[in-house]
Amino acid sequence: MPLEIYLILRSAVRRVSKDAGWCCKHISTLTVEATIVAAVISTLAATAAVAADSPWSTARTPSAGPARAIGGPASGCLAGAAALPADGVGFSAIRLSRHRNFGHPDTIAFVERLGKAAQQAGLAPFYVGDMAQPRGGPMSSGHGSHQNGTDVDIWFNLDAKPNLAPEAREEVDLPSMVLANKRDVDPERFGRRQVTLLRLAAGDARVDRIFVNPAIKRALCDQLAPTERGWLHRLRPWYGHDEHFHVRLYCPADSPPSPCPLPGGEGSSLLKVCSTTPRRSRRCAGCGLRRGGPWRGRYRRRARRRA
Ligand SMILES: [Zn+2]
Repeated sequence: MPLEIYLILRSAVRRVSKDAGWCCKHISTLTVEATIVAAVISTLAATAAVAADSPWSTARTPSAGPARAIGGPASGCLAGAAALPADGVGFSAIRLSRHRNFGHPDTIAFVERLGKAAQQAGLAPFYVGDMAQPRGGPMSSGHGSHQNGTDVDIWFNLDAKPNLAPEAREEVDLPSMVLANKRDVDPERFGRRQVTLLRLAAGDARVDRIFVNPAIKRALCDQLAPTERGWLHRLRPWYGHDEHFHVRLYCPADSPPSPCPLPGGEGSSLLKVCSTTPRRSRRCAGCGLRRGGPWRGRYRRRARRRA
């Protein structure tokens, strides 16, 4: 704590103590510091309570009406969300108590496609972590994005898994794929199966980008032959992402180009916005990305150059 703040707080505590009839010499440094720490803790607790009470985090059901990813992944919300089933072909959802297993129907369909493709490739089921809250919006912890229903976290752990009871889904083994030096992948954990899953995800036409740890991107660049690297442009190195990879889809074609309002009261303002017919735009106003997939305009030209 900076000295000036400490001195101001100490003088305030002593003034209060004097008003209460205590003698300053009886106020020890320890007492003053304990009082200041208690004040800081109570302030932090109040701040956390405000975040936890955010209407976005307390919503338990999606809004009615057609599905809409509104705004961008880091500043948006979600209407008409769908819930990911707890288990599907090739995947299991974990940490369901967080109520972050919702997404735009495009995202749910992507996970189901990836699960089937992974199973056909002989992989064990993968775990699906956070997607979005029932109405999207900022979360009280953990993510800056995951707000408009187009993001999903998929865990790298591809060991054979038991059928999980609801309680067991809250505490699962999610090892890092990166060594302690932060530069190299752990060859015991990151291998052919993980590369196959990443390749299948990156090959989906609805996927815009995938965030992975820089060590994972580097390992793939080193390990794959030049002719096998055509899909690596979808992988963006980003800190963290060593236990899971984060898939972001293109903006769905039905996303309205409007900013996302904060919900008022029961979230009625969100319902109102989500029920209006959007004006179509070639780009999503929130994330600025082109709608409808990569096979148009400059994306097609870039792909041709890469091929
Ligand atoms: Zn994520």
